[in-house]
Parts: sequence; structure tokens; C-alpha cells
Amino acid sequence: MAGAETGGVPFVFMGGTFDPIHNGHLRTALEIQQWLEIPEVCLIPSKVPVHRDEPGCTSEQRLAMVELAVADEPSLTADAREIRSDKPSYSLLTLESLRQELGPQRPLCMVMGADAYMTLSRWYQWERFIDLCHILVVTRPGYELDLDPEMKRFTDRHAAGSKQELLSLPAGKVLIHELTPLGISATQVRQLAAQGQSPRYLIPDSVWDYIQTNRLYGFNRL
Ligand code: ATP
Ligand code: MG
Repeated sequence: MAGAETGGVPFVFMGGTFDPIHNGHLRTALEIQQWLEIPEVCLIPSKVPVHRDEPGCTSEQRLAMVELAVADEPSLTADAREIRSDKPSYSLLTLESLRQELGPQRPLCMVMGADAYMTLSRWYQWERFIDLCHILVVTRPGYELDLDPEMKRFTDRHAAGSKQELLSLPAGKVLIHELTPLGISATQVRQLAAQGQSPRYLIPDSVWDYIQTNRLYGFNRL
């Protein structure tokens, strides 16, 4: 198994607003779990979105939908540390808290879409991330990875030669990985719900049931 001769099984996670979680997120996490041959990938919803507008429902509801979405898939888990924290959601704090739990040697890997990675240099103390984790950038339809000169230098300097480096080293590498392209966004799901149209097959049925029952995103057609 991955990590057996090194610092242990890699901890791989994906953060996001998940407002709501959709099949683009879920398929991304599952493909990464399969590609890295690790037991699981963890989804960590953020509490207070630092970089974006207020979400269309409460943090607890976003967490509930993530939990529903992973309930029938043993390779995916949800972690409530950001939602339950009394501090704002800063990725740096999450990375520090995970590193504290994992110890210094265990590989830690943060998965992010190309759109998120292109904004990374505006995140709180982002230059410290790479000492704490690897960054696995996944392709996303509609977002060409077009890096500014600073991010390009950063990406080149930390480029991993192979996925093996992510699995054996504790932190420090950046790798870009191509996924099955799924052009789904939470914005699209919210818009459909607000228009009273079904977002079925873009999100799990359990999440769609939850949205209808709780009349989230202006959905009003029970
Ligand atoms: P919104 O439209 O509200 O911004 P979103 O669909 O972009 O929502 P987020 O919660 O903002 O979802 O994204 C969380 C993470 O998942 C980010 O790293 C983002 O790049 C990634 N991601 C979201 N959708 C996809 C997708 N369809 N394919 C690959 N990565 C994705
Ligand atoms: Mg987004």
C-alpha cells in the first residue's frame, strides 16, 4: 500500500465551499483516490468563505450535504474541522492542524482545481503551504491553467517528477493532474434550483432531496 515504507499512508484532502457539493467534486476526489491508490480522500468544507460571497445556505447545511454525499462511498470521507472551528476558514490553519495530527513525516496533500490554484497567491500566507503539504492541481473544464509569472516560478520550482514523490515525501511538491472533464459548478446547481429546475445527475440524489426538503437556494416547488 502507498506509504508503507515511508512516513505512512498519505492524507489527501480537498477543501471547498461545497455550496452545494456536486459530482464534479465527488468524481475528482474518487479519481484521485484511485490514481494514488490510497484508502481514502477527505472533503473539508470551509466555514466562512474568505475569498467569496456568502454561501446560499448555512455552514451546517453544506456540511450535512457533504456527509450525505459520501455516506455510501467508503473511499470518501468528510471532515468538520473548519465548520466546527471558532476561527475563520484559512487553509493555513487547516494545514497546521492536520500536520499536527499526522506528525512531521506523513505525506499530506491538498487537492485543488485549476481555477482555485490560479488564485493561490492571494490566499493568507500561501507561501507557507508548501512546507506543510503537497499541492495536487486538477484540471477543470473552462479553466485553462494560465499562471502569472510568480505562480509559474513557484510551480516550476516545486514540480514533482511523479506521483511517487507525493506518496513518499511529507510535503513540498506541486503536481498537475488531468481528470475526466466534468464541467459542473455549484453556481450552476444553485441557479437551476433557484429557477425551480432539477439539477439531477449533476449532484447525488441524496443532496437534491436535502435541497428540496430544506428549500435551499430559493428552491420553492415542493
Ligand atoms: P462555485 O460555483 O460556488 O464557485 P465550485 O463548483 O467552484 O462552486 P467550490 O466549492 O468552489 O465549487 O470548489 C472546491 C474545489 O473543487 C476547488 O478546488 C475547485 O477548483 C474544485 N472543483 C469544483 N468543481 C470542479 C470540477 N467540475 N472539476 C474539477 N475540480 C472542481
Ligand atoms: Mg468555485
